[in-house]
Amino acid sequence: MSRAYIALGSNLEQPQQQVRAAFAALDTVPGVRLRRASSLYRTAPVGYLDQPDFINAVAELETDLSPLALLDALMALEEHFGRVRSFRNAPRVLDLDLLMMEDVELESERLTLPHPRMHERAFVLAPLAELQPDLAVGRHGRADRLLAGLDASGVERLAG
Ligand code: ADP
Ligand code: MG
Repeated sequence: MSRAYIALGSNLEQPQQQVRAAFAALDTVPGVRLRRASSLYRTAPVGYLDQPDFINAVAELETDLSPLALLDALMALEEHFGRVRSFRNAPRVLDLDLLMMEDVELESERLTLPHPRMHERAFVLAPLAELQPDLAVGRHGRADRLLAGLDASGVERLAG
C-alpha cells in the first residue's frame, strides 16, 4: 500500500459540494481508501483570471494502485463529475491532480511526480501543509516552509 496526496479543485456548479462529493467518491474507487481530508479553501484564480474563485482541498489516500492506474481513476472521476476539457486553466467542475505518491519520482508523457507545479502553488500547499506540514515535496523541501515563502493572500481557509 502507498500513501498518495490528491489536489482537488472546482469553480463551477456549487464548488463546495463538488469537492465534498469528490472526497466521498475517491473513497469508493476500488483499491483506494480516503485517509484524511483537508479543510476547504476559497482561492483566487491563477493564470486565467476572468473566472469565479475556486474551492481547493487536498485528500490523503492509501492505495494499492500503480501511479498510472490512480491517474486513470482520477480522470474517470473528473469525467463522471461532468468536466469538459477546453483550454488550460479554464473553469472546471472538478480537477483532480495527483500530487505525490510515497517518494515516487516519475516523468512520462502522462504523469509527472511529484506534480511539477505543486511547490509554487499556495492553493495546493495550504491544504497539504494542514494535513502534513513536514511532508517533503521532492527536492523542494517541506510543505510548510514552501508555503511560508509564497504569497498566500488569495487563499482563505473556510470554517467547518
Ligand atoms: P491542469 O490540472 O493543469 O489544469 P489537466 O487537469 O487538464 O490540467 O491535466 C493535463 C494533463 O496533465 C493530464 O492529461 C495528465 O496526463 C497530465 N499530468 C501530468 N502529471 C500529472 C499529475 N501529477 N497529476 C495530474 N495530471 C498530470
Ligand atoms: Mg488536472
